[in-house]
Amino acid sequence: MKQYSTEITAPDIEKNDLVKRLHTFLTSDCVLFDDEDLRPYECDGLSAYKRLPWIVVLPDSTEQVQQVLELCQQHQVPIVARGAGTGLSGGALPLDNSVLLSLAKFNRILDIDPVNRTARVQPGVRNLAISEAAESYGLYYAPDPSSQIACSIGGNVAENAGGVHCLKYGLTVHNILSLEIITMDGETINIGGSGLEGPGFDLLALLTGSEGMLGVITEVTVKLLPVPEYAKVMLIAFGHIEDAGMAVANIISAGIIPGGLEMMDTLAIKAAEQYAHAGYPTDVAAILLCEVDGTREDVDDQITLLTKVIKDCNAVTIRIAHDEEERHRFWAGRKAAFPAVGRLAPDYYCMDGTIPRKQLPAVLKRINELSEQFSLPVANVFHAGDGNLHPLILYDANKPGELDRAEEFGGHILELCVKAGGTITGEHGVGVEKINQMCVQFSTCELNQFHAIKHAFDENGLLNPGKAVPTLMRCAEFGAMHVHEGQLSHPELDRF
Ligand SMILES: Cc1cc2nc3c(=O)[nH]c(=O)nc-3n(C[C@H](O)[C@H](O)[C@H](O)COP(=O)(O)OP(=O)(O)OC[C@H]3O[C@@H](n4cnc5c(N)ncnc54)[C@H](O)[C@@H]3O)c2cc1C
Repeated sequence: MKQYSTEITAPDIEKNDLVKRLHTFLTSDCVLFDDEDLRPYECDGLSAYKRLPWIVVLPDSTEQVQQVLELCQQHQVPIVARGAGTGLSGGALPLDNSVLLSLAKFNRILDIDPVNRTARVQPGVRNLAISEAAESYGLYYAPDPSSQIACSIGGNVAENAGGVHCLKYGLTVHNILSLEIITMDGETINIGGSGLEGPGFDLLALLTGSEGMLGVITEVTVKLLPVPEYAKVMLIAFGHIEDAGMAVANIISAGIIPGGLEMMDTLAIKAAEQYAHAGYPTDVAAILLCEVDGTREDVDDQITLLTKVIKDCNAVTIRIAHDEEERHRFWAGRKAAFPAVGRLAPDYYCMDGTIPRKQLPAVLKRINELSEQFSLPVANVFHAGDGNLHPLILYDANKPGELDRAEEFGGHILELCVKAGGTITGEHGVGVEKINQMCVQFSTCELNQFHAIKHAFDENGLLNPGKAVPTLMRCAEFGAMHVHEGQLSHPELDRF
């Protein structure tokens, strides 16, 4: 288990006194403080880091959220918002002497408006529940993280979550219209609106991806889209992973924007196939799942063009799902890939870097070399169309030094992404996991702007402190050098 340290001023209230104050407006079942009750909240999906919070609160009204924040502000108590706890970067990791504010009771869909194609929901509503509720109107919510069965829309907004459909339909930020948030001062702010553009600074974009550091989201209005009339998925297999990478770049440059374009390498294919029986070939180096949607005519035209592009990239097998059942089966394998890979090793560390698509072949090759260098296997399963890599580094935390090695390997991958002209996160956020690599991605001046924004919303730095934006001191200790995007050209990557 890893320790994560932040410099936080100690609260000026004892734990017991804080519990008593919380009980003045929350019922006893909504204030947890015994170790046994706190245990389920000690980590998020990044389970290498664990810490018990001081207290967990489960409010069920915005007034209660306001009161919790005001109380914490008054006594300098750090506060960490938590949705479903599926985050993979430690965003919802509790901190020393912190209150963990769970939004689990904010689980109501408040309104579905089929005419305006919107849904107004509380932040604890599960991502998939929105599409399920909109289904009878022929509508759905497009961003679909693989964790959509469990993750909350509040967590999606806080992480600017992505998913299979985001290549064509955009990330969370492109699919929400407005938010209600409570600031650390206990004030309610409504941002965004029913139109696509409003006057003033774009606070909606600022709050999206703010990792619980600027305010607590208490309501979200999302856009709904019509369920596409027709969709087909192709399963394309390759003998060499570099050919699969080249195919991704060529598909997009041919003018096709698939509804989803996902890649899996041999390890990931084998694990997913054993787990989900999706019908994947297991003797190939990589597969792509490429879905096209639209009218029947559009889809047929795109399939014709796709087939041509793919054949030019040395595809060894091309299969089109022959019915809806097979289409769902192909996707079920991909969506189950993370838990499936979990069967290959006691632990895995999921990375989340993004690179320009044309760099895919070179970066995948380099990741394989690093895998040998660090003697840790890596399975690749990712949103290839977005250039959003998810190398899963397999390790065993019980073997001395393996976690540290996995983290060092992961750090190299993220820095490789920056050097290739990309970023250290595509959708999982920075949290505690990638905080050092922020020093590589951003200059001192840029980090100072982030700190200024944080200070404007949360003067005392109590909302999720120490996450996502490193102090300059931390960067100095890490010894990182800021690297300009695209600083290294393709052949230079090989020497990284
Ligand atoms: C198997 C698996 C597959 C995944 N696949 C994807 C994927 O395809 N795409 C993707 O983007 N992510 C994926 N994730 C990561 C994760 O599901 C997303 O980051 C998701 O958005 C987190 O939502 P959550 O409700 O679990 O948030 P949490 O983990 O509870 O919190 C995440 C962050 O949001 C903040 N937060 C939560 N709720 C609020 C709120 N109401 N107000 C303010 N801040 C808040 C927290 O403080 C924290 O910083 C995957 C995770 C797993 C385990």
